[in-house]
Amino acid sequence: MSALNRALPEYVPVLIAGGGPVGLTLAALLGRYGVECLVVEADPSYCEGSRAICISRRSQEIMGWIGADKPLVEKGLPWTGGRSYFRSTEVLRFSMPSDPTERFAPMINIQQFYVEELAHRATQVTTPNADVHWSSRVVDVEQRADAVHVTVEATGGERRVVRANWLVACDGGRSTVRELSRLALEGMQYEGRYVIVDIEQATERTVERLAWFDPPSNPGSTILMHRQPDNVWRIDYQVADDEDPVEAVKPENVLPRVESHLRMIGESAPWKPLWISIYNAKCLTLNDYRHGRVLFAGDAAHLVPIFGVRGLNSGLDDAGNLAWKLALVVQGRASAGLLDSYSSERVHATRQNIAYGAKSTEFMAPPHAGFRLMREAALRLASEDTTVRSLINPRQSTPIEYSDSRLNIPSDDRNARPRAGDVAPEALVQGRHLTALFGAGFVGLLFSDRPRSALKERGAIEYGVARLDVWRVSRTAVGKDTNALVDESGEAWRRYAAVEGSFVLVRPDGYVLGRWIDPSWGIIDTALARFRSRPNTEDETRAPALAQDER
Ligand SMILES: Cc1cc2nc3c(=O)[nH]c(=O)nc-3n(C[C@H](O)[C@H](O)[C@H](O)COP(=O)(O)OP(=O)(O)OC[C@H]3O[C@@H](n4cnc5c(N)ncnc54)[C@H](O)[C@@H]3O)c2cc1C
Repeated sequence: MSALNRALPEYVPVLIAGGGPVGLTLAALLGRYGVECLVVEADPSYCEGSRAICISRRSQEIMGWIGADKPLVEKGLPWTGGRSYFRSTEVLRFSMPSDPTERFAPMINIQQFYVEELAHRATQVTTPNADVHWSSRVVDVEQRADAVHVTVEATGGERRVVRANWLVACDGGRSTVRELSRLALEGMQYEGRYVIVDIEQATERTVERLAWFDPPSNPGSTILMHRQPDNVWRIDYQVADDEDPVEAVKPENVLPRVESHLRMIGESAPWKPLWISIYNAKCLTLNDYRHGRVLFAGDAAHLVPIFGVRGLNSGLDDAGNLAWKLALVVQGRASAGLLDSYSSERVHATRQNIAYGAKSTEFMAPPHAGFRLMREAALRLASEDTTVRSLINPRQSTPIEYSDSRLNIPSDDRNARPRAGDVAPEALVQGRHLTALFGAGFVGLLFSDRPRSALKERGAIEYGVARLDVWRVSRTAVGKDTNALVDESGEAWRRYAAVEGSFVLVRPDGYVLGRWIDPSWGIIDTALARFRSRPNTEDETRAPALAQDER
């Protein structure tokens, strides 16, 4: 028996096509939720070349759910702001929201292959639940009523069919699964091109986002710089409209421009190029991320401009949104219809991300002369007029609200924020970050200074992902209680706009599901019932039987 035949199972509940950052993170989450899954990755190992580097606070939280936040943060370079220059003049200095109570920096820079490695290691912790097969490519997909039949081909050309209840396509921008499903991304792409160069050069420079518009080193161009770990710099510069893209990436054309720029900013240490590539921004998405038993996530579902850093970051949010829902469906606690909410919430998020990304792109690479004129006016004015500076402030990645999600529960406390569909805010209470409580199951935050509460007594009832952990957040110590946090400064109460008896119910992905004042246990029980009841149709979860012709 060949290696492929020995190793690949005949059946797995969830098959993930593609072991990039999104596929591997999804696998690690599913593994932690006790779901067996198989990642099939075409390449022999992690990605190479210039890919994502800016990892948002929200992504760091999601990596925390798989136990990978510590090494991520240790290796990554945190940053909180940046500067923009018009020619030689500094026109903007910006800071992203950050305060000492936050668990993570608003952004860290780290190469994508490190994120993949950490997510992969996180899958191994869940062994045997999550398994990764390298050098194996999905080449055919056949959806049947009770299963998806996925043909996997190893490097030598050997093929095998794996049956799965669910196939998640995380196979990137050129998704094979999307193509085999005859689905097309919809939207538009920009003409403007950027050369992306990663170089190695030792530096002591502060970690920040640096942008130059029409700099003396490269007149007419826009240049972005980001420092990465291991003495690596990312330099992106805009290519002139009439420049041939093939010529633009030739070292003899790239290196003098980089050298000129490094000289301009006073970096004189020896340097060498690592990767050179060319990029143009795309705003594309599928209209639906669920097609029967096939789900789409990450770049396979959407392509958003790199300006605004929402590609990998939004892909990790896809994984965070999908994992708990898929786990509930696979484990027979919720009906497959729950997966439609994955699609509607994340398609909504993509549309928002595209809108933000498009604004950043149009500023970085104006699509026509009118835009260019407007940008120049804003840049000229920004050096003198502080009110104009907001126009040139880059939008960074923040999680998108699901205000219209059908999962949201109408509240009797409807004016208070966070409300259903918002991301539950961070607060540091008694040395613990509230966001560190999320990611494993449902969390109830009961804001109460009363000594006892019937709700609190209901505490953790074991339902797997659908379990509920209730934490009392009180402003003074209230007896001996293991699931209690004393919010001495009242910060959590303020951030959650809490009054005595406020109960905020948080989903496993850190979004608020509903909030009430002094709810009865029955109300909470009803809110969770749809995640805890066995659906009528057994076929959603059962391992499909072999068809007659496959025995
Ligand atoms: C220059 C550049 C800079 C970027 N910077 C940022 C940034 O700072 N922040 C950010 O958030 N995003 C950034 N992005 C975007 C980010 O890189 C992508 O959004 C991210 O890689 C998407 O992850 P993914 O897992 O969905 O897809 P991918 O990373 O593309 O992974 C897909 C995987 O599927 C595999 N595969 C393909 N076909 C098959 C098949 N048939 N069978 C099995 N496996 C298959 C591939 O080998 C690959 O490993 C940047 C992108 C570029 C190009």
